[in-house]
Amino acid sequence: MHARAASSAAAAGGGGGSSEGPSICVVGAGVIGMTSALRIKQALPAASVTVVAEQLEDTTSHCAGGLWKPYTLGDTPPELVNRWGRDTLQHYLGLYQSPEAPAAGAVLTSAYQLFRQPVPNPEWAQVVPHFRQMSEAERRVLDPEGSHSHGWFYTTVITEGRLYMGWLAQQLAAAGGQRLARRVAAVEELAGHDVVVNCTGLGAKALFGDDSCYPVRGHVLRVRAPWVRHYTNSENGPGEESTYIIPNSETVVLGGTLGPGDWDTTPREADRRRIFERACAVLPSLRSAELVAEWVGLRPGRPSVRLELEEVQLKGGSSKPSLPVVHNYGHGGAGLTLAWGCAGDAAQLVQQALARR
Ligand SMILES: Cc1cc2nc3c(=O)[nH]c(=O)nc-3n(C[C@H](O)[C@H](O)[C@H](O)COP(=O)(O)OP(=O)(O)OC[C@H]3O[C@@H](n4cnc5c(N)ncnc54)[C@H](O)[C@@H]3O)c2cc1C
Repeated sequence: MHARAASSAAAAGGGGGSSEGPSICVVGAGVIGMTSALRIKQALPAASVTVVAEQLEDTTSHCAGGLWKPYTLGDTPPELVNRWGRDTLQHYLGLYQSPEAPAAGAVLTSAYQLFRQPVPNPEWAQVVPHFRQMSEAERRVLDPEGSHSHGWFYTTVITEGRLYMGWLAQQLAAAGGQRLARRVAAVEELAGHDVVVNCTGLGAKALFGDDSCYPVRGHVLRVRAPWVRHYTNSENGPGEESTYIIPNSETVVLGGTLGPGDWDTTPREADRRRIFERACAVLPSLRSAELVAEWVGLRPGRPSVRLELEEVQLKGGSSKPSLPVVHNYGHGGAGLTLAWGCAGDAAQLVQQALARR
């Protein structure tokens, strides 16, 4: 994947937009930033939309397995998670039905989530198709020894980060959006734009001084196991570290770990062994799978997702006293699960900010 970058530094600072339309700067090129940029460009075709990011490729979003499932979202209200999640799932189901499916990496899959104790239905049970508590006979197909006493079955979509991020980049370029590789040290640098959209994930801690942001470290393995086609998960209860198996196009993702507050992205031997052994306990055939890659990523944790418009006061010396900023960050372990729905709200907030000028 190659970035189509804006040609001049003016696009980063502002003033690089078309003469007819407003100039919108989206900071961050993960799934939240790229989806926001695309939906803003779709809502405001005359606007100049520039994505500015330190990393245009290989973000956390590019490396994620891409399962649709709300996870590690703190106290984000369930009604918001369901609304954003439903919009996003509908978008992925639409992609799965369309000729875009292979390019976007959208795959429909069955999900089997096994538990060792009774667990109530999740709030999002109403969002996914075919949700039901599994019967014992269904559980035994996956767990012949009967080590799990309960389970959920549902249908969901896997939108593999690597493929979907490439598709988003193509869509944005085709719509006329631009991308520019650059770190933003202070919001004042963007004063020339009409609206800034903050999609910096964990970067919001430094850029906007949000000390409630924290990393939730996650270690996953990628193995070659083409016989595995369904999502399987075994856990002790919601919020507990779980064992998960997510098929992607060329590899199967085995996870995982949950390390709140841990910034270390170096893989640990003990975790690697634990992840593999736990996955083999759920699906013993994985012992034949070749390990092809591993990755430690940092989920952008926060007490809840932040999606709101703020008039940010700029420091002295700026060309104007304040700048409207739409914040869209803190999606924890569910950025791909919520991105399309959140981006729809972000596009509306940008329109509100422009209407106030
Ligand atoms: C192991 C693991 C597995 C996961 N699996 C799934 C899954 O199956 N399904 C799912 O929905 N989610 C999953 N997630 C979570 C998902 O990856 C995140 O929620 C998502 O990537 C967050 O997207 P984002 O765009 O907010 O942040 P990121 O992808 O981290 O992107 C942030 C962007 O902001 C830029 N940036 C930050 N600060 C600055 C600055 N000062 N100047 C310029 N640019 C800046 C960065 O360079 C980057 O481009 C997983 C996460 C991990 C770690």
